[in-house]
Amino acid sequence: MQNAMRLMADYNCWPLWWMNGDGDIDPHTLPLTPQTIERLLRWSATFDAVLNWDDPRSSEWPSIEARDAFYREGPELWLVVRRELAGSYSVFYQEGGTVFYEPGEYYSQIRLSERSNAMMPDDEAPARVFARYLAAGQLAFQRCAACTAAIFYPRVLCPSCGATDLRWEISSGRGTVYATTTLHSRGEFPYNVALIDLAEGFRMMSRVEGMEPAEVRIGMEVRLRVLPAQDDAEAIAVFEPWEAA
Ligand SMILES: [Zn+2]
Repeated sequence: MQNAMRLMADYNCWPLWWMNGDGDIDPHTLPLTPQTIERLLRWSATFDAVLNWDDPRSSEWPSIEARDAFYREGPELWLVVRRELAGSYSVFYQEGGTVFYEPGEYYSQIRLSERSNAMMPDDEAPARVFARYLAAGQLAFQRCAACTAAIFYPRVLCPSCGATDLRWEISSGRGTVYATTTLHSRGEFPYNVALIDLAEGFRMMSRVEGMEPAEVRIGMEVRLRVLPAQDDAEAIAVFEPWEAA
C-alpha cells in the first residue's frame, strides 16, 4: 500500500493521508492541478472552521446545509484527485470510520438525494466496476433505485423501468441452480454450464464446480467461489455445492 492514500478531513491537517500510517500529505507535493489543490484546502478549511477549540466534542455545523455541502464536496473531490493521480497513486475516501475503495461502493452505500450516477466519471463503465469488484473477490450487481429490480449483467439503464439511478450492491453469493447442462468439447473433460438464481434476485450464467458436471441438479443450493485472475485470465465467478463447506 506504499502508493495508497485516503482523502479524509481532520482538524488542522492536510486532508490526504498515507494508508500505511505515515501521516498526512501536503497536496503541493503531489502532481495535482493548482485548482484541485485549492479546492482541497478550501474543503479542509471548512471542516477546521467548525471546530470548537474549547470543547472539540461539542463542535457543530452552523447549518444542515453547510454540513451537507461538505459531505457532497468530499466524494466529488475524491473523483477529481483519483483521476489526476491515476497511474501514480491509489486514492481512497474515508467518511466516519469507513474507507471506500471504489466510487461505486460509496454511492451504493451513501444516500445523497440530489446526486446520481450522472457524476460518475467516464471510466466508471459498469462492466469495469464489476470487474474490479470481482478481482477483489466480490460478486457485484446493481439495484434500480426507482423500481428496486436487481440487475445483472451490469449496465447503465434499468431493463425493467429504464431508470438510470442504479446502485451497486454485493451479492451474498448464495444461489440455486435454475438450469444446468453438460458440455462436451473435443479433447477436454466435460464441463457444466448453469444458470444460477442468486438470493438477491438476479440470474447469471456460470458453472458449478466441485462435482461431476452431470450430477448438478436444478434447485440445488450453491454458493459463490471467485477464482482469482491468473496470467492473462481475469477473475471469474463459479459456484460449488453448498454442502462443500
Ligand atoms: Zn428499474
